[in-house]
Amino acid sequence: MATERLQFHQMGLDDRLLKAVADLGWSQPTLIQEKAIPLALEGKDLLARARTGSGKTAAYAVPVIQRILASKQSVSEQDVRALILVPTKELGRQVQTMMRQLTAYCSRDVRVADISGKADVSAQRPILMEKPDVVVGTPSRVLAHLNARNLSLQTSLQMLVVDEADLVFSFGFEDDLKNLLCHLPKIYQSFLMSATLSDDVQALKELLLHNPVTLKLEGSQLPDSSQLQQFSIQCEEEDKFLLIYTLIKLQLVKGKTLIFVGAVDRCYRLKLFLEQFGIPACVLNSELPIQSRSHIITQFNQGFYDCIIATDERTVADPAATSKAAGKIKNKGGKAKEKEYSVSRGVDFQDVVNVINFDFPATVESYIHRVGRTARADKPGTALSFVSHTETALLSEVEEMLTGDNAESSLKPYQFKMETIEGFRYRCRDAMRSVTKQAVREARLKEIKQELLNSEKLKTYFEDNPRDLQLLRHDQDLHPAIIKPHLKNIPEYLIPEDLRGRFNPLSNKRRLKRTNQKPKPHGVAKSSFKGKNPLRSFQYTKRDRNKKQSRS
Ligand code: AMP
Repeated sequence: MATERLQFHQMGLDDRLLKAVADLGWSQPTLIQEKAIPLALEGKDLLARARTGSGKTAAYAVPVIQRILASKQSVSEQDVRALILVPTKELGRQVQTMMRQLTAYCSRDVRVADISGKADVSAQRPILMEKPDVVVGTPSRVLAHLNARNLSLQTSLQMLVVDEADLVFSFGFEDDLKNLLCHLPKIYQSFLMSATLSDDVQALKELLLHNPVTLKLEGSQLPDSSQLQQFSIQCEEEDKFLLIYTLIKLQLVKGKTLIFVGAVDRCYRLKLFLEQFGIPACVLNSELPIQSRSHIITQFNQGFYDCIIATDERTVADPAATSKAAGKIKNKGGKAKEKEYSVSRGVDFQDVVNVINFDFPATVESYIHRVGRTARADKPGTALSFVSHTETALLSEVEEMLTGDNAESSLKPYQFKMETIEGFRYRCRDAMRSVTKQAVREARLKEIKQELLNSEKLKTYFEDNPRDLQLLRHDQDLHPAIIKPHLKNIPEYLIPEDLRGRFNPLSNKRRLKRTNQKPKPHGVAKSSFKGKNPLRSFQYTKRDRNKKQSRS
């Protein structure tokens, strides 16, 4: 007999917190929240292995807020009670946003400050002087404040969280973290959240946790196939472009989509290529300034864009090309920026329906992080990987991991007949011819310049006028390639027989144009796909083959 799930209202939480949870539309806790929140409220130290998108932020944020609210009933003195360490600025922002949402009805009692951002240490001093209840930051930034005596935790700290602990290590914060521990009191409650329980994380566990409870909730690091469907299709370089163009243009890919490529240049190559067909897309990579990156993610989450082309490079793949393309602009950014940035990790892209690996990820870990951007919380998702002959070994590694991890999550071949889109090849080649190396280089430079300008604007003007943020779009055409207007439309005769009449070739318009339009609800296909994800449903099955055979 199935045991009843524990609900938020059965956890003894403050009404203000419950109200905020209800406003977020969370009908019940995720598995990690159900297990972690009661244990944390009992005062236990926790080590939780939780896959990305499992709701792990709230798993520690809810008890942190609850304990602060409870302690304020007896001690009213304002002091820093909780410290949340994160590996990246993006994650810092995200954690702060989630904390703000959860403290919407008690924001005076639980004040949160995110100091992971770019601002100067001295500029952040006044924020810390006000002694916020919760401080969110990267280890190096927190340590800088401790050393500058802007922050003191010796007497007040009650809770420490290390989020994405494995990344805190791989991003090189180990020493800072160790130094930081000298500034903490002897007794405090700790939470360690990590996607993997690596040796580094185990070592940190020894250092930080006292008699911890270890939660390894999911057998697999990705949801099973009832929630996340994973497909792969063999195709070489030219076919990758042909396929992505037709999948989008024929609306077989619909809804919010993240397309991953292997290098920064590839982002612009693909963006310029899609531009030729009137398909708008944003580019997200480590070269863009932090404000722009955050703004793109925020707008994507608000429904402004359907498509982001992203890299998840930890260091820029082609440094020579980068510095040549970006010149002084790039050099100013310095290395630290690259070290701290990785698109697919930890960042909460909301309501992503499809993840497409245009280039197959270089490691199994990267596959998990990329694909983990969809099917988050309890939502469904689809991942499709294009695999060239040079990438098949990597595909086998991923398949091995998936079947070893959980037989329920496997990678199936995407049954798509490339010959049905052969008629599009000529147009595809035509478009590819316009996307020259020179065009890509120019696009890359133009975008960085544009985004640096945006970034400045964002920092100054938009801080005072947050509503106007909507006016700034990041999916504008870059245009360094010659545009051939006829490519934007598809003549009826090119559409595969099975799809004729199933979609409107003119409906591929840019989303939410600078207005107050509301975003479309998640994943709803308007066409005759009847709410199903078209990518999942448009596949040639054995039945199709038999049908065709019997017809002939
Ligand atoms: P996280 O794993 O913390 O990055 O969370 C992934 C996503 O799940 C975020 O967009 C959260 O807002 C969402 N989420 C967290 N908890 C719940 C819940 N109990 N029910 C539905 N969605 C949730």
